[in-house]
Amino acid sequence: MDIYQLLRSYLETALRQRALKSPWTYRVLRQAVAARRKSFSWQAAHSLLLHTIDQAAAAFLQKGPVIWHNVFFPTEVLYGLGVIPFAPEAAAVAATGLGIAAKALQQAEGDWVSGETCTFHRLAYGCDRLGYFPRPSGVVCSSHLCDTAPQSLAAAAAYHGVPFYLLDVPHQQDAAALSYVARQLKTITFSMVESLNLTWDEGRLQQALVNSNAARERLMAINNLRQKRPACIRGEEAHSFIYLMLAGFGAAATVAVYEELLNQLERSYRKNEPAVPEEKARVVWLHLKPYYPNEIFQILEQEAGIIIVCEEMNHVYWEPLEPERPFYSLARKVLSHHGLGPISRRIEAVLAMTESYKADGVIHFAHWGCRQSAGAIRLLQEALREKGISFLNLEGDCIDQSKYAPGAVRTRLEGFIEMLLT
Ligand code: SF4
Repeated sequence: MDIYQLLRSYLETALRQRALKSPWTYRVLRQAVAARRKSFSWQAAHSLLLHTIDQAAAAFLQKGPVIWHNVFFPTEVLYGLGVIPFAPEAAAVAATGLGIAAKALQQAEGDWVSGETCTFHRLAYGCDRLGYFPRPSGVVCSSHLCDTAPQSLAAAAAYHGVPFYLLDVPHQQDAAALSYVARQLKTITFSMVESLNLTWDEGRLQQALVNSNAARERLMAINNLRQKRPACIRGEEAHSFIYLMLAGFGAAATVAVYEELLNQLERSYRKNEPAVPEEKARVVWLHLKPYYPNEIFQILEQEAGIIIVCEEMNHVYWEPLEPERPFYSLARKVLSHHGLGPISRRIEAVLAMTESYKADGVIHFAHWGCRQSAGAIRLLQEALREKGISFLNLEGDCIDQSKYAPGAVRTRLEGFIEMLLT
């Protein structure tokens, strides 16, 4: 089923009337989605959607302080503070599904937001100015990986007249960097406690880290299963759960969703229920995918039997956290990201993924405006080719449908499929 079609049908009038701020909207939406559980192939995807609706309701109805964050900020801090996290880049994906992307991008363009800027941020800007986002009480942002987020989120904080907290992450991973990041995390946390008049609860922060570890364990178990042949879940389906990596770590609901996915996946592997009738090759997907209707996964997985077995964004790159040392271990998590520092770290991580998942190829979706992902891709390509792994750099835009050329994409995918199968 097209869940966005369902959401649109409920929100079409609502969007016009700004009823995103009405409890009625979420009640109706929740009931409608809850009644459709059987139409979801993966029950965890259904639970995730319900959880997302609840989170959106809490944010739009301002059930507590709403803190905007970029997708690389350690959300354990926010769940530990008991505030309502809201990720504008992730919300931009929902805006795309709800069909308001063109209007929001137009708003950004009209306000002279550079067309060179990543569309996630341009779209978030437009949605915010059009009143589709909940008002923040504060904004936090990490400087690592994404060079657009700090400027974009600082501008949003200034627009709303709320405090902005930047986590400055150095490129080194040594002891000095660790203590520098840990100290900042502590300062940001206590500054929010003070400026938002929150009640400090150390136990709640520790619980957020316990939840994070439990989610991590389940995700690792899911990823281990996906290393087996044949794959029992298609990459297109697994992509839906990336949201949790970007906005859900620290929440108890994230543990429950992964647990449900793990249980269903274990059953599928036990019963040997392959994702496609004949698995012909296995591929690792780097960066994100386009979030508007497109044929990419249909062509790869359903038509050609080329299964996406691993997504870079679902890769567990950090060690377990230590709840009794929250800031130190969250700093270690931030600094562990394979995309931070020299490109050799990302290359090493991608090569390890291809080995663990026995992948024959790698597709990198080069999203327009994302320098962290597309930069130095040539070096990655060379490293993969040396290992005999086919590589496709698929250029496009995750959000802006007007940049999608179905014919050209099909031609490039068919060339890649041919390379994989010969
Ligand atoms: S796609 Fe790249 S530039 Fe855009 S938000 Fe993500 S990391 Fe930042």
